[in-house]
Amino acid sequence: MKVILLTGYHQETAQISEKTEITSTNLKPDLHSSSLSQNEGPSINHPTPEITVDKTLQPGVAKGYVHNVSPIKNGKYFDFQLQMKHKTVRAVCFSPPKRKYFSEYSTSNTPVEIKKFKVDTNSNAEDLVMGNNVAVQYYPNIDFPKVEIPSSVTLATLSNVSVGQLVTVKAKVVHLSPIKVLQSKKPRMTQAHLVDPSGTIRIVLWEEFVSAVAEGNTYIFSDIRVKKDNHTNEIYVNTAKRGTKITPSDPFTEILPITAEKPNEHNNTTLTGEILGVNKVQYYLSCCKCSKKVTFAESAIVKCQNCHLMQKQSSCAKQWYAQVLFKYSNQTVDLTLFVDCIKQLIHQLPQDVDIETMTETSLTEILLSLPPTVEVMFHNRTKVVNSITVN
Ligand SMILES: [Zn+2]
Repeated sequence: MKVILLTGYHQETAQISEKTEITSTNLKPDLHSSSLSQNEGPSINHPTPEITVDKTLQPGVAKGYVHNVSPIKNGKYFDFQLQMKHKTVRAVCFSPPKRKYFSEYSTSNTPVEIKKFKVDTNSNAEDLVMGNNVAVQYYPNIDFPKVEIPSSVTLATLSNVSVGQLVTVKAKVVHLSPIKVLQSKKPRMTQAHLVDPSGTIRIVLWEEFVSAVAEGNTYIFSDIRVKKDNHTNEIYVNTAKRGTKITPSDPFTEILPITAEKPNEHNNTTLTGEILGVNKVQYYLSCCKCSKKVTFAESAIVKCQNCHLMQKQSSCAKQWYAQVLFKYSNQTVDLTLFVDCIKQLIHQLPQDVDIETMTETSLTEILLSLPPTVEVMFHNRTKVVNSITVN
């Protein structure tokens, strides 16, 4: 099978700018077709071969499997790969609301038929270009299996991805932090660096994913979430509560960049001591789409000022944080714990604590009932705790 893989983000960037022009001039949204709810028979009115291609942009029909749906880029478009019978092509869709359909078909490995796109042959790439009127639907009569195709998302392109989105990358694990064996519970969180030919990024692994990777091995990380550190503005990724998959993959054949430092060991201090006091315990609500802070409202509905999504206040996650006075030896230091760290802490407690029903009082009581042998690792400048262990 001839597989055309369009990777490398320099090339991609150049192609996108051409395509933006093509779309704005040639692709007019067809307001009369509510494409995705259409229930047409398979190709009855379109007895087209697998794909219709000409030297110019022409409408076509394509059938196959959707792979590697990208996050929405620049707020305008996403892309993916379409594995057809004899080749795999890149597809670009300039309608962000359609992303969820393609993403669902990709995740569920559903064979699909796509209609009402154009083929851009001007750049010799045969990319499929789609607008608001693109139609995609389940198409059962496909006589070839879905194969694995590596993602074209690289670690270097993640800095252009909106925080909060799920991405799929292929990367090698380096500098895996030693897993702390806690007395009564399994380890719940660890960190590492991911590296691919384009760059590196820090990953936080939660729950069952703590033991899912080994130092030096290469994996496909499916649907991991892009995050931003509130204090350092660092972009990193973590495993999502639902949907993340980590599957072993072949090592890279390209040369990989060298990562100099282990995560959180260069700029950090580790101390053992006691939480003497609690200055402040609070939470804010975060947008269920973009994770930015949303303002409390009297009504049940709130609007995100960042992405303008109207949402139920009850669906916004509570982002707890606490400021504590920490005593070690004969000294004290003021430390801040954010929600990841508070979750890490309550997982280690003998009692079950539900973070959704937690109150200021109950969290304060938890913090002040810890033994005097708590180990914290915190950032030297920001004094933000990034790891806490109850011994
Ligand atoms: Zn938002």
